[in-house]
Amino acid sequence: MHKIIRKERFTNDISLMEVEAPFVARKIKPGQFIVLRLHENGERIPLTMFECNPETGTVAFVFMKVGKSTYELDTLGEGDSILDIIGPMGKPAKIDTYGTVVCVGGGVGTPEVLPVADALRKAGNEVIIIAGYRTKNLVILEDDLRACCDELKICTDDGSYCTKGFTTTLLQELIDSKQSIDLVHTVGPVIMMKLVCDITRPHGIKTLVSLNPIMLDATGMCGSCRVNVGGQMQLACVDGPEFDGHEVDFDDLMNRLNMFKKEEQEALERYKKAHPEAFPGEKGEGKI
Ligand code: FAD
Ligand code: MG
Repeated sequence: MHKIIRKERFTNDISLMEVEAPFVARKIKPGQFIVLRLHENGERIPLTMFECNPETGTVAFVFMKVGKSTYELDTLGEGDSILDIIGPMGKPAKIDTYGTVVCVGGGVGTPEVLPVADALRKAGNEVIIIAGYRTKNLVILEDDLRACCDELKICTDDGSYCTKGFTTTLLQELIDSKQSIDLVHTVGPVIMMKLVCDITRPHGIKTLVSLNPIMLDATGMCGSCRVNVGGQMQLACVDGPEFDGHEVDFDDLMNRLNMFKKEEQEALERYKKAHPEAFPGEKGEGKI
């Protein structure tokens, strides 16, 4: 069992949890993830490491409630326990000295950017973070992001905070301003990562993407997280989750992410009926 020692709610849907997992905390590196299971009948939930502390033996992750299992996770609080946590999973992010690196994060992808940006800066890179959110209320971790980069650029889709527009708008502006960029690293919605790659490709800017396909065993055996990279089948769990974005077939990835939508919706509705307390303030049909 893994005790939850801290829970911090950032928005209605996004929270941070810090859990006891001493063996994982000793080894996990930026870009790697854990897989947790809440109880015997629980689904496996892959979540990216946000912070780790080998001294206290704890690992933190930031998650968004999107379906049955993440709603169930959010019912837990400080002092509760999670049945099992495995990790570190996946390959660490490629931390090297590139020069100027732009890290692009969207929504719940922004926490995933943070440890990678921090490691890249400590490796001697100049790091610019572009963080995009739908609206002002959803802006999270602003101070933490600012602390691990040389420049933080924030945008909101509706213009309610900082620049109005998308992360791609800010990235395009940087490129147009002749800012020399040696590497772009991006995490977030698949469509955003695809568009980031479309912008960098004509300029020949190396672009690494961290992919979150549907993943089951996360050990390379089941094949559910397969992605097409440069015409080759790759497994995000063991070959990734970081890949050369210019080689990724994003349309295939988007299709595969939607493969179980009907079953996921049904599972959420069933869970909502059985556990209305997990949906405070919501009436009627599920909100997804
Ligand atoms: P469901 O209703 O089951 O599914 C909702 C949507 O989530 C699906 O349509 C699908 O697109 C996706 N999804 C469902 N099951 C999985 C699965 N087993 N693996 C991946 N995606 C799935 N989310 C975060 O909020 N924070 C993170 O740091 C984070 N890191 C991730 C790292 C990796 C390597 C991967 C593969 C995924 C990561 N995710 C992260 C996504 C997270 O695992 C899913 O949102 C979660 O499993 C959804 O479960 P659910 O039952 O709540 O939703
Ligand atoms: Mg699920």
